[in-house]
Amino acid sequence: MALASGRNNGDSRDENLRNVSNDKKGRNYIYFGLGFTIIAILAMACLAMIMFSGSFQPFNGLGGITDHLPFYDNSHNEAEFEGYSGRDLILVCCSWGEELADGELTYYIEDHMIDEDRDDSGSEVDRSSIEAVTKAFTEWDSKLEGLTLSETPDRRGADIQIYFREGQNEKAGITNNYYDFYGFITKSYVRISKGAFGFAFSGNQLEQIAKHEIGHVLGLGHANFDGNLMAAQVNRGSGSVSGCELEAVYTANEWWFEKPSGSQPLYMRQPLTDHIDCR
Ligand SMILES: [Zn+2]
Repeated sequence: MALASGRNNGDSRDENLRNVSNDKKGRNYIYFGLGFTIIAILAMACLAMIMFSGSFQPFNGLGGITDHLPFYDNSHNEAEFEGYSGRDLILVCCSWGEELADGELTYYIEDHMIDEDRDDSGSEVDRSSIEAVTKAFTEWDSKLEGLTLSETPDRRGADIQIYFREGQNEKAGITNNYYDFYGFITKSYVRISKGAFGFAFSGNQLEQIAKHEIGHVLGLGHANFDGNLMAAQVNRGSGSVSGCELEAVYTANEWWFEKPSGSQPLYMRQPLTDHIDCR
């Protein structure tokens, strides 16, 4: 009896040891699981912050298009036109996404100069420069059928933000488009130089630069021929929106523009082509 009892005690001790060891293992699993969950949450929070701040672009077909000044010779990438010799065309990049679904894109014009070195807003922008940009939007708005471009005082809520820079730049305009995970444009930032090489752009030149940048905003690349609004160099371009640029915008955002009138589109999709022939 005593032996059996001893054995029993021994067994139960072992049982207890096993239980303790199982408890430890269980706790280890819990710690491991908790740690992993915390790391995963932190990683997702970091990713969300980076994406929210706009520095992470999963797809960036057109981000950072930089336009060079008059007299700035042949500085853009000619390679993008390879295979199209003898044809006049405009490159088509991308489509806007759900922001387009109400048939309206809003723009905000910042009335204080930006200074990229100091990262603060500087002096007030003169009235005529703002008018030049407003006229550029008005022309696109009046010519595009099925899309309204309207000004908003809400900078954060605007689909398109326009800024003016001082004139000591080598670039007439820069458009940065931001994209969602599927490659649809979600937001545009445009910076327009007030001048270059010590001279100020005229109102007409600013208007032309703004129209050209709005072309990029709406999903266009450059034209491979002179005399078109989307020509890569300002002095070789044109100051008005012609039928080919309109056609290119309709093609870039075809899911919206090609729907039967008065109906809602069934789905969003990227453009089916990367260029459109002008003539
Ligand atoms: Zn350009």
